Amino acid sequence: MSDAQAPEPYGGFDTMSIGGRQWTGSSDTEYQDRNPYDDTPLTRIRLADTDDVESAYRAAAAAQKQWAATPAVERSALFLRALEVMDRRRGEIVEWLVHEIGGVRQRAEFEWSLVRAGMIEVINHATRVSGWILPGVTPGKENRVYREPVGVVGAITPWNFPMQLSHRTIAPAIALGNAVVLKPAEDSPVTGGLLLARIYEEAGLPPGVLNVVIGKGSRIGDALVTSRVPSLISFTGSTGVGSHIAAQSPLKNHALELGGNGPLVILDDADLDRAADAAVFGSFYHQGQICMSTNRIVAQARVYDEIVDRVRERAQDLRTGDPAGADTQIGPIINDSQLEHARDLITRAVGDGAELLVSGDPSGPAGRVLPPHVLVGGNHVATAAEEVFGPVATIVRAESEEEALHIANDTEYGLSSAVFTEDVERGVNFARRVHAGMTHVNDTTVNDEPNTAFGGEKDSGVGRFGGVWAIEDFTTDHWVSVQHT
Ligand code: NAD
Repeated sequence: MSDAQAPEPYGGFDTMSIGGRQWTGSSDTEYQDRNPYDDTPLTRIRLADTDDVESAYRAAAAAQKQWAATPAVERSALFLRALEVMDRRRGEIVEWLVHEIGGVRQRAEFEWSLVRAGMIEVINHATRVSGWILPGVTPGKENRVYREPVGVVGAITPWNFPMQLSHRTIAPAIALGNAVVLKPAEDSPVTGGLLLARIYEEAGLPPGVLNVVIGKGSRIGDALVTSRVPSLISFTGSTGVGSHIAAQSPLKNHALELGGNGPLVILDDADLDRAADAAVFGSFYHQGQICMSTNRIVAQARVYDEIVDRVRERAQDLRTGDPAGADTQIGPIINDSQLEHARDLITRAVGDGAELLVSGDPSGPAGRVLPPHVLVGGNHVATAAEEVFGPVATIVRAESEEEALHIANDTEYGLSSAVFTEDVERGVNFARRVHAGMTHVNDTTVNDEPNTAFGGEKDSGVGRFGGVWAIEDFTTDHWVSVQHT
């Protein structure tokens, strides 16, 4: 194992958690969880089969009603205790985040803080649910609309910010009286699921309210989304898989947080150092493997050359290597197929006429540390049109503000975006014309705040996480009418 040993709090992670019991999967496949930097084995787990999925749903259904009837103040107190566990286990959690997904240490600390902020955000969810009382149109009738838990939630999550993306689903769901079956990604079984199960178990969550199954999407995915038990499928991941899931379960509710292709627009009056810092951060943070990553840096003609220089200088200075190292800024790509995907996009962009200003070959013990790449010129078809999910910055020149807007919107995706200008109102006006769920003025495309509306438009998703939007997603309306006379 590289640098520090990944700790195994609570005695290891080789089993799933179903109905409060430690459960060994019944499929014939054993999975070896590895550190993507050097392939060091972390833990082995026998994967779940479709029967295990149904057992988990049965456990969730059995626990949910009693959990929903638990006084709100007790449900809130659960999150106070979970916070205490988070603080006490901080070191172990951060080590797992570094070792399981190859994110650098600073990123792991940030993810820990995001999960913690998410716990604080949901403490009062149980008491913030409100309903309606409406006058009857029919004489003598009174209409009441109660917001109730949806029941059982099926949650499927990706590997790239595994703990945060799973937690932002399970925390509001549980706080609002639902039970959950969570399937994290194969590349992050511990940080995406098993670690959370242990934290909440230690905090006193009743058995069955949170169940974690580990398995391949191709093997148990359909069972997870077509089971009759869950009424809501909450999915975070690629647009292709999200579309498949929605098609498989047309009569269920869906919360879909999908892929992105974030533009960062630099207008001609921007603070160029600030803009270049944000562009480099958004392109290379976590090796560019974030749904909100900056896929296209769009610079207005007057500032284009200066932005190219600044981005190139900053990209060349980034330190690559072992993510466990204190100063490393760029660690490994998560797996070989993602590495090939990123390299293929770079090759195609160069084939389309783009020029590589910064580049290099993969390095590291497993050959997955891809150094920063900066592309300019050409028509950028490959790196601009598709989600890169790798350390690649593509700089595009726009002759005018209108052209910059057109380029920003010229994508099937609509998740995060950013605009830089010294005139805040110009920025807000521009932002409101970007067809995306999130646009940040004078800040990076990579932004997450637990109390606001996180989500996408177009092929980037359906629904919103965060604050009152999560309360809406994880509850449903029940109209109860009373005929008084
Ligand atoms: P992915 O779509 O390959 O996998 C996501 C999850 O879906 C995994 O748990 C996987 O096992 C599961 N899955 C795969 N096939 C399935 C099937 N047929 N049925 C059910 N489940 C199945 O995504 P990934 O590679 O893990 O993550 C990267 C993608 O996620 C990128 O596209 C990124 O933009 C997106 N993402 C979006 C957000 C957001 O908030 N919008 C956040 C993070 C990542």
